[in-house]
This record gives sequence, C-alpha cells and structure tokens, in this order.
Amino acid sequence: MIRVEKLNKSFGDLHVLKDIDLKVNESDVVVLIGASGSGKSTLLRCLNFLEIKNSGNIIIEGEQIEKETHNLNKVRERVGMVFQHFNLFPHKTVLENVIEAPVQVKKMRQSEAEEIGKELLNKVGLGDKNNEYPSKLSGGQKQRVAIARALAMNPDVMLFDEPTSALDPELVGEVLATMKELGEEGMTMVVVTHEMGFAREVGDWVVYMHDGKIVETGKPSDIFDNPKEERTQAFLNSVL
Ligand code: ATP
Ligand code: MG
Repeated sequence: MIRVEKLNKSFGDLHVLKDIDLKVNESDVVVLIGASGSGKSTLLRCLNFLEIKNSGNIIIEGEQIEKETHNLNKVRERVGMVFQHFNLFPHKTVLENVIEAPVQVKKMRQSEAEEIGKELLNKVGLGDKNNEYPSKLSGGQKQRVAIARALAMNPDVMLFDEPTSALDPELVGEVLATMKELGEEGMTMVVVTHEMGFAREVGDWVVYMHDGKIVETGKPSDIFDNPKEERTQAFLNSVL
C-alpha cells in the first residue's frame, strides 16, 4: 500500500536519504530502527509530505504522489502521524481535541464526530476522560489522546515517530500496548522506536537504517537473532 522507490532527500548540502526503497503492505507493522541522525524521522516526514523529497517515487495505494499534481493536505488525511511530543490543544478538552480535524477539515457533523471520538477514546482506554483538559492527563494518557486524534481522520496508514521516548518509563507500556492493539486489528503502521521489545514482538518487518540508507530489512527474529550485516549487529550490540 506504500511503496518508496529510490527516494532521495537533502537539506542543502546534507544528503539525508539515499536511494531509499521500502514497501509497506496492507496491515504490516514496519519498525524503523537506527542511530540518531540516520534519517528515520526524515523518511517518515517524507511519507507524510511534511518534507518534500528531492527525487524518487512515493506511491500510496497505487497512486504516485507528487506535490505538483496532488493536494498534499488531502493526502495527509490518509496518512496519520503521531509524534514524540503530542501537541494537544491545551484549551480544548480531550474529546474536542479528537474531533477538531474531522469537523474542521473533513466537515463531519459535530454529533457524528463526537460519537466516533468517544468510541476512539474508549478504544485507547480513555473513555472516562472525554471532558478533561490535557493538563490533567499524564504523558501516557496525552499520547493516547494523540493516537485517538490521528485515528479520528480514519487514515489508511499510521506513522509513529518515537511516540514513547518523551515519556516517563512507567508510562511507556500503556502507549506501546495501545499501538500493539492497533497493529493486531490490522492497521498499517510505520513505527520509529528505540523500544526493541516492541520491534521484536509487534513488528512484521524491521528496517535498519544507517547514514541515510536502508542497510537491512527482515523479520524481527532474523534481524535480532541473525543479522546479515555487520553494521546491524554493531547497532544492536549498542542498544540491546
Ligand atoms: P533521531 O534518532 O535523533 O531522531 P533520525 O534518524 O530521526 O534521528 P533525522 O531527524 O531524520 O534523523 O535527521 C537526519 C539528518 O538530517 C540529521 O543529520 C539532521 O541533522 C538532518 N536534518 C533533519 N531535519 C533537518 C532540517 N529540517 N534541516 C536541516 N537538516 C535536517
Ligand atoms: Mg528522529
């Protein structure tokens, strides 16, 4: 459902993504791992068109997306993203945060958006927090609101960029559990994370990036127990 071919991205003289090829099939959970600066966030941001590639193809549901021919805001509605920092609207309640985009962007009826929003908040375990303000929530709860907010647009695919790395350790598990459930329900997901337990348990594929290139892709068991590339092994030794 997502295909990336020979993707290149530079910031000025800095060549950050180098001939990236990647395929994400329907219902796949693809986990991107790699050292700081290897280009993981930039790759996700290109998939969401928050960054515009220099060359190569990004094909979503069979359609090659180009900024010249596509309304990128429309494309972004199909590609949900969850960031390290959740950026909820502080002056809106949890439910209002979740329904903001469906109502404002998709022009969904308020009552319908509220119904869907409540369902999603239930799903992420926050059914009792609809009318709370974000300041009253823990980091893990805020991140689960952010997940519900992205899901409210009914995206085809969800991108996660280190969604747990700003959380206190005791709050990481609840967010990973929510993501795991989402993956098991068949959501197509690309997840950047340093949580190797999650990668191993939930990932269908693990992609190791180094210096703007994909060095190795494999099933979690292959990558973690039997990496083919020395660089993958060295990275895993440094983090496991
Ligand atoms: P981390 O694990 O630290 O989040 P990453 O793998 O996500 O790292 P990126 O954020 O994609 O790495 O950054 C890759 C490289 O691109 C880095 O050298 C970074 O400094 C550079 N870079 C990223 N965004 C920009 C930008 N907007 N302008 C200039 N350089 C950038
Ligand atoms: Mg990053």
